[in-house]
Amino acid sequence: MPYIVIEEERCKGCGLCTIACPKKLVAMSEQPNALGYTVAVFSAPDTCTGCCLCAEICPDVAITVFKEA
Ligand code: SF4
Ligand code: SF4
Repeated sequence: MPYIVIEEERCKGCGLCTIACPKKLVAMSEQPNALGYTVAVFSAPDTCTGCCLCAEICPDVAITVFKEA
């Protein structure tokens, strides 16, 4: 099952990945990272298709997609 890892300390909280995911599997958390940005979090990983749209849109290269668990 594909899944993504979001590097919290790279995330600037822009929210683009939440819009890009066709499955709406990425949401913004309310927890700020060390720089004070509220970061994106991955939810409902059981339906991730590994399409990479979230990773491709991220301007801070904070998302890595893994195709296998
Ligand atoms: S790889 Fe695709 S389905 Fe999975 S979280 Fe990213 S945009 Fe959503
Ligand atoms: S697109 Fe990248 S920087 Fe923007 S919220 Fe998502 S993970 Fe964070």
